[in-house]
Amino acid sequence: MQVANKELMRAMNRDNVLRTIRLQGDISRKEIAAQTGLGQSTVTDITAALISEGLIFEKATPGKHTGRPPILLALNPDGTFVVGAYISSGTISVVVINLEARVMGSHALPLDETITTPDEIADRVAEAVRTCCTRHGFIPEDISGLGLGIPGLVNSDDGLIHFHPGFNKGFDWTDVPFGHLVEQRTGFQTFIENSSNTLAIYEHWFGAARGIDNFFVTTLEHGIGLGLYVNGALVRGWQGIAGEFGHVRGDSRESTCRCGMKGCLEAMASPHAILKEAQKAAHAGRWQPPSNETITLEDIITAAENGEIVLQEIFTSAGTILGQRIADLTRILDPETIIITGKSNLAKDMLFEPLAQAMEACTSEVFRTTPKLIISPWQEENYARGAGALVLQKLHQNCPI
Ligand SMILES: [Zn+2]
Repeated sequence: MQVANKELMRAMNRDNVLRTIRLQGDISRKEIAAQTGLGQSTVTDITAALISEGLIFEKATPGKHTGRPPILLALNPDGTFVVGAYISSGTISVVVINLEARVMGSHALPLDETITTPDEIADRVAEAVRTCCTRHGFIPEDISGLGLGIPGLVNSDDGLIHFHPGFNKGFDWTDVPFGHLVEQRTGFQTFIENSSNTLAIYEHWFGAARGIDNFFVTTLEHGIGLGLYVNGALVRGWQGIAGEFGHVRGDSRESTCRCGMKGCLEAMASPHAILKEAQKAAHAGRWQPPSNETITLEDIITAAENGEIVLQEIFTSAGTILGQRIADLTRILDPETIIITGKSNLAKDMLFEPLAQAMEACTSEVFRTTPKLIISPWQEENYARGAGALVLQKLHQNCPI
C-alpha cells in the first residue's frame, strides 16, 4: 500500500512539474519549486528524468548577465509524437501530433456501413493508423502511444466500450475490450476514451480552457455529449460513463431516443433530431428539399438561411431546449467557461441566439457572473487531436523513476 502511495505521489509530482513547464513556457527549477510547492531536490530529480526522456530541454537565458546565467527549462515540442484517432459512424480520422498537439500529419478513412463487428472496426483503425504514420514519415519507434476517441459509453480505465450508438445495429457491442483489440493490431500502447472527454482534455491542455479548471464542453454531433472538468480534473463518474448529457430529460415530449428511453435531450435537439424533424416537415409538404432522396444538415441550414420559416422554427426549438438544459448544468456546476462545438455549429445564430436567450432567461443577478460562452468552430480533426492529448496526459503521469 505504501509503495502504491509513493508511486502515485511521484506520478502526481511529475505531472505537476510538466504542467507548470507547459503552461509557463521557459522557467527555472527554482521557479518550478516555488510554484508547485515541491522541494528543490524533488524538482531536480524529476526534471533530470524528463530531460533524459527528451520531453524537456535546458536553455540558456538570453541577454547579458552578471555571474552565471540562469538555466531555464522548456518543453521539447518534438520530444515525442503520439497518434490520436476519432472513430465516428462513417469515418476514422487519424492525426500524428507533437507534445504541443501540433498536427504533424493526418489521414481519414471512410467506414463502410457493412463493417460493424469490433474485429472489423479494429482492423480498419489499425490500417488507418499505419497509413497515417507511413505517409508522413513516422516509424513505430517515433510514436509513444495511441489514443482513441469514441462516441458512446466508454470505460477508459478498463479499455471497454459498453455501448456504441453507431455500430450497435446487428452486433453485440456490450463491454467490448476495444483498446486491447487495437493494441494487438498496432503494437502501440492504446488508450480509449469517450470523444467528448478527449475534446475536454484537448481544450484544457491546448485550447480555449487552458488554465481554466472548471468548465465543460458540449458536443452537438449525431448525438449530444459532455466533457466536464471540475477543480482541474476530468469527471468520469463511478462506471466511467459520466457526462451523458444527451440522455437527460429534454422536455415533456415523447420522442424515442436511440438509447431506448423517451424524451431525451438528444432526441429533440441533436443534429440527428433536427434532421428528423425537417424530414417530417418535408414529407408533410411544409418545405421543398433540394432532393427527396437524402436531406443533409447542410441542406436544412441553407434553406433556413434562405427564409424557410418551418426550418427556422426547428432550430429555434432545438436551441431553446439546449439553452435551458445548459443553464441547469450551469446552476449545478458553476463553470467559468462553457464551450459548445459540433456539426450543429454550422447553423450559427439560428441555433445560438435562442440558446443564449434561453440561458439568459434561466439566470438571475443573485448568481453573480455568468460563465463565458465560447462557440467553437466545427472541426472533426479536433476529436482526433483530443484523443492524442489523452495519450500526452498519460505520458505526463507516467512515472518511470
Ligand atoms: Zn437517450
